[in-house]
Amino acid sequence: EQSLAELDPEIAAVLGGELDRQRGTLEMIASENFVPRAVLEAQGSVLTNKYAEGYPGRRYYGGCEQVDIAENLAIDRATALFGAGYANVQPHSGAQANAAVLHALAEPGQTILGLSLAHGGHLTHGMKLNFSGKLYDVAAYGVDPDSHRVDMDMVRRAALETRPTVIIAGWSAYPRQLDFAAFREIADEVGAYLWTDMAHFAGLVAAGVHPNPVPHSDVVSSTVHKTLGGPRSGLLLAQDGQRWGKALDSAVFPGQQGGPLMHAVAAKAVAFKVAAGEEFAERQRRTLEGARILAERLTAADVREAGVSVLTGGTDVHLVLVDLRHSALDGKQAEDLLHEAGITVNRNAVPNDPRPPRVTSGLRIGTPALATRGFGATEFAEVADIIATTLRDGSAADVLAMRARVDALTENFPLYPGLEQ
Ligand code: PLP
Repeated sequence: EQSLAELDPEIAAVLGGELDRQRGTLEMIASENFVPRAVLEAQGSVLTNKYAEGYPGRRYYGGCEQVDIAENLAIDRATALFGAGYANVQPHSGAQANAAVLHALAEPGQTILGLSLAHGGHLTHGMKLNFSGKLYDVAAYGVDPDSHRVDMDMVRRAALETRPTVIIAGWSAYPRQLDFAAFREIADEVGAYLWTDMAHFAGLVAAGVHPNPVPHSDVVSSTVHKTLGGPRSGLLLAQDGQRWGKALDSAVFPGQQGGPLMHAVAAKAVAFKVAAGEEFAERQRRTLEGARILAERLTAADVREAGVSVLTGGTDVHLVLVDLRHSALDGKQAEDLLHEAGITVNRNAVPNDPRPPRVTSGLRIGTPALATRGFGATEFAEVADIIATTLRDGSAADVLAMRARVDALTENFPLYPGLEQ
């Protein structure tokens, strides 16, 4: 049978080109990571051939005896990893997991209250073009205008005013930990359900370096591919299956999806096994250390004088939000300049951003992928200095010199050695 390169050289070239790009640049998009070879193997497997609508032991197709084993392993490992009594490992993505949560917890037209998109919330928490914004009545809390932190008094006031059916704790761009116990209290006070979307920080939770939202929340959703370092996909958890299990299972299938991607489910099982190990925990500690080193360098006097700063003054998680409102560079220019130097980040609106969303006045910079690549304090200090120098010097930056420093790092930390495409 023909190989991919023989059958479809154009797509084979894309795979090869992308592997080269990942190897030759520094990946600092906060929501990205590098999966282990074992996860690539499970995802590129014959499990992609199998229909398995339903759940283990209750499928609508025959021949599910092998995929049932994989799904049960994924469920058992996910519940053990997060101290949950219930897991659904079928959501194709984070957005689909979130659609299932709202489907289970609220009726269309009811009110949901989450972090404003402009302040770091996610599309599925109520953006007007997203299903969440179309089907539900959306209310939002913001971050404090001065500290840029989520202030629980503000959340409480918003909850008392809007009386939501669901309160959402979780974010896509926020550099601090949330107080899940305080969210729980507010939810109880106003009679709301608490949904935590831990898509970004699930890996930190698994490693025990971030509070676990599971004991405080009615439902927790996540992606598996950000800090958690597994295949691109979603996950649902709850303290136990009694209250929400049936509604969530039914919201995923048949509510949102048909056949689960069993190759992805198997790859999730592998990722959860990896995440339970000490090596993974050590990697998450390096992830946090790298973000702290970056925040420190980006608040030093030389960058401060160039108008560059860091929202909230630092970080407790795997990312740093750079504030460029007073810098000569806007978010787009800064992203492009770092891209030229070989560092991939994404521009990001800061709260109350004066610039339009396509330009923005900020950057979101994350450390998970580089920690996976093996970076420790020394390498993170070097990356931090490359970024700080580039942002400080702006259009006068010596991009070639920065690129050479990036090249030295990528060469010293080979990615997927031996992999061909
Ligand atoms: N929830 C949060 C908080 C996210 O940041 C993201 C991804 O950006 C998602 C959900 C959606 O995940 P996916 O891109 O897999 O649909």
